[in-house]
Amino acid sequence: MTTLVDSNRGKSSRGDWAMQSNQVISERRGPPQDPLTASIIEDLLAASERLSAAGRHREGAAPAEEVLALPGVTPVQQARAREMLALHRLRLGDYQASVQNGLLALEYLTSSGDLLRQSKVHCTLALAYTDTGLTEQALGHAVPALETARACGSQLAEFWALTRASTVHGAMGDTVRGVDLGRQALALSRTLDDTEARFIAVNNLGDSFLEAARAQRAAECDASLALREGLVLFREAVAMAHAQGHNFFETIALTNLVSILIELNEHDEAREKAHRCKDLARANGFRNLEVNVDAQLAEVVRAEGNLEEATAMMDAQLADPSIDEDPALQIRLHQALYEMHKQRRRFEQALVHCEKLGTLSLQRITQTAGLQSQLLINTLEVEQARHEVERSQLAAEVQRIRAEELDDQAHTDPLTHLPNRRALDRELPRLMDRARDLSQPLCAAMIDFDNFKRVNDAYGHAIGDQVLTTMAQMLRAVTRETDLAVRVGGEEFLLVFGDTDLDQAAQACERLLASVRDYAWNGVAAGLTCTVSAGLADLRPAERVSHWLERADSALYAAKNRGRDQVVTAEN
Ligand code: GH3
Ligand code: MG
Ligand code: MG
Repeated sequence: MTTLVDSNRGKSSRGDWAMQSNQVISERRGPPQDPLTASIIEDLLAASERLSAAGRHREGAAPAEEVLALPGVTPVQQARAREMLALHRLRLGDYQASVQNGLLALEYLTSSGDLLRQSKVHCTLALAYTDTGLTEQALGHAVPALETARACGSQLAEFWALTRASTVHGAMGDTVRGVDLGRQALALSRTLDDTEARFIAVNNLGDSFLEAARAQRAAECDASLALREGLVLFREAVAMAHAQGHNFFETIALTNLVSILIELNEHDEAREKAHRCKDLARANGFRNLEVNVDAQLAEVVRAEGNLEEATAMMDAQLADPSIDEDPALQIRLHQALYEMHKQRRRFEQALVHCEKLGTLSLQRITQTAGLQSQLLINTLEVEQARHEVERSQLAAEVQRIRAEELDDQAHTDPLTHLPNRRALDRELPRLMDRARDLSQPLCAAMIDFDNFKRVNDAYGHAIGDQVLTTMAQMLRAVTRETDLAVRVGGEEFLLVFGDTDLDQAAQACERLLASVRDYAWNGVAAGLTCTVSAGLADLRPAERVSHWLERADSALYAAKNRGRDQVVTAEN
């Protein structure tokens, strides 16, 4: 596809890069922004977006850069500025800055979960990597671009993602898949009320067919079908852009139409469309498209067999300094000139172009390789910064879990795994506050094993422990969410019943005593029997916790005195 991309400029150094990737992390926590700064930033971002929509990327980059340089910019604003810059820099041909900003924006958008904008940034990155020949990295963004677009349900985002994926596959040499994705994008674009999307879909699918046709020709296969399909689409693209009054799109579509007409040997129409394209490009100041169409005109002349004239046209173009910024076109022209001179057995001139071709190609390869390795380093650095953040987040999480575990340990009885006295001190005030706030009754039952010393003496300490563990299970069984069961001492437990009056609590205690009494202790030790006693007290209005529990304790003492295995309720 023909797109306008200026030469590379404004590369940032590695040091710069590292500093900026750290910024994202450190700027997450900052003081709140004052309203004036907020409105200035808002205006700058809006200006950058407006200029982007108008295709004025050099002017659009400036306000976004300004936002990043402002003190106190929030992570959201920073991400928006970087998102804009990724696009502006891509269109200006500064891939390094594009990728750098895109990846950093993505870091933030991923953590904030903004799927739509993630998809957009993935699209930008896919294009930046494709343009620099890093197609594998490009695919690594085209796929999530599509996934996030679908996940957030935006059809327009899905359209762009399909379009980018088509471009990436085309660039990878998979023209079949490129065409297939282009078709999907086109079908989707027809359901959207978006003239730009419709034009792009038609034009890009046409380009996919052109690429497919060239690949077929290179493999000495019949390319006529792909060329015909491409021709229809480019004609439609030209008509569409013309109807929309979109000069830039029309120039692009005409350029593509001329290319396919040349491939089809439709020289007259190719020449006619090329002139129309040239007029449009010149009238609108699309300088590189104008230069490109000159080359196309020379190609038409050459295809017609007029080698002398074609050579003169191409020589003239190479002599024009405005071509210096377009090494790809220079290579194309030298290639054509080399071939024509050779064909006419002018070997000396052929050699000149051949040598120039070699030098330019080598330069290009070196430049591309340098850019690619720099981009890969940048990508790795962002990944490393992310791993660093993830690592520290994980470390913080591990620390939190450890602290929690330690806290749990400190509040849990190791034998029965019931909460201990420390937990009681922490939990009881909460239960009491809640009961008072909701005007609900709260009861406490102090429970103590009867003659536990004898259990130990007769069966040993280990069996005693087992009895205590079994008791803990029974306590758990009777407690609800709003209750609390605590091992307060050796063979002594406290049960706190939330939202339970004295009668209900007494019944619950009776049930507990019965279950201890009736439990098959024989299974723990032959001949073993166990009972417990309970002292019950309800919390009185404004009563201190110590007084309340002392009353429960006294009631327990009374239960022991009255012969054990019984519940005694504290008197009011
Ligand atoms: P009472 O019915 O009056 O409560 O008699 P008791 O024997 O249960 O009371 P006492 O306070 O005299 O004895 C409690 C016994 O509980 C003494 C102690 O060895 C035993 N004990 C306390 N903690 C544990 C423990 O963790 N495991 C075991 N196996 N025994 C314990
Ligand atoms: Mg006891
Ligand atoms: Mg005791």
